Amino acid sequence: MIIVMQHGVETDLIEEVKSRLVQEGFDIHESRGIARTIIGAIGDPTRVPLLALEAMPGVEKVVPILKPYKLVSREFKEEPTVVNVGNAAIGGDEIHVIAGPCAVESRQQILETAQVVKESGATLLRGGAYKPRTSPYSFQGLGLRGLEYLAEAREMTGLAVVTEVMDTESLPQVREYADILQVGARNMQNFNLLKKIGEQDRPVLLKRGHSSTIEEWLLAAEYIMSMGNYKVILCERGIRTFEEYTRNTLDLSAVPAVKSLSHLPVIVDPSHGTGRRELVAPMSRAAVAAGADGLLVEVHPYPDAALSDGPQSLKPQSLSDLIHELDSMAPIMNRSLGTLVG
Ligand code: PEP
Ligand code: MN
Repeated sequence: MIIVMQHGVETDLIEEVKSRLVQEGFDIHESRGIARTIIGAIGDPTRVPLLALEAMPGVEKVVPILKPYKLVSREFKEEPTVVNVGNAAIGGDEIHVIAGPCAVESRQQILETAQVVKESGATLLRGGAYKPRTSPYSFQGLGLRGLEYLAEAREMTGLAVVTEVMDTESLPQVREYADILQVGARNMQNFNLLKKIGEQDRPVLLKRGHSSTIEEWLLAAEYIMSMGNYKVILCERGIRTFEEYTRNTLDLSAVPAVKSLSHLPVIVDPSHGTGRRELVAPMSRAAVAAGADGLLVEVHPYPDAALSDGPQSLKPQSLSDLIHELDSMAPIMNRSLGTLVG
């Protein structure tokens, strides 16, 4: 439930409400806004009658949260969450493009791509060092060496780095290099990983699982937030359906749906969402029109030679053309395209 305190209430009264809730076994999440303080209380609602809480001095109202996810919900926090990464504010007025290769393949490849990403106007660099591949015989990523190359690319361009963390063992290492920790579709319900990531003070990009409902996806975000990490960005990347022409079915309706259910930023990955390079630009435009806060796009200087996901990777010129189009489109949505200089 949410306890909304009266406007300008004294700290003592807030503390009294909190200690009453703690006594009854609730987990407290406090949000002090300019106008008022809101206390989120997670626990057994039968432990303390709503009316008794509402009668406490300083309390304006008590609102039960009926959804299974609490901290993630719009009821818990009405204003949108903005996740700051370097100079990029994701979830605010700006639309940010995160671009880069599927995998870091070599020092030369990532440095060259990072330059392309920067020149095209994207604001964050993506690239996998640890790759979750369907086949054990496919390229698995460069591991630590890949992370080191990403750090060099960041140094060279000033672009913040997004990279996937696949397991709890490698989390401390990946955390050292990543500005945003990506949780891949295959790991969306790896609850131990989600809990450990929830203990980090590092933004998280949580991809929707292949076969996950919106509710399951939001509950995965709740796992991270329940451990104290509120910097969660959701990423729609397509779901499995009977359709085989596209790699996945990009569920763009999830964008406005999640935006109404949650205060968290939502971005869209049209590359994995379609699996086809020629569909990336149209789906990117559609994602922005649907209200997405950003895009995650794969780009490769030589897609035909890519070690993974070549068919869905844009060529450098197409990335630059796409960002140009988004720049002219953004004002229609009352937004602007994020830039590197904040
Ligand atoms: C990726 O972004 O490279 C990736 C593996 O994506 P997903 O987890 O959505 O399949
Ligand atoms: Mn990929």
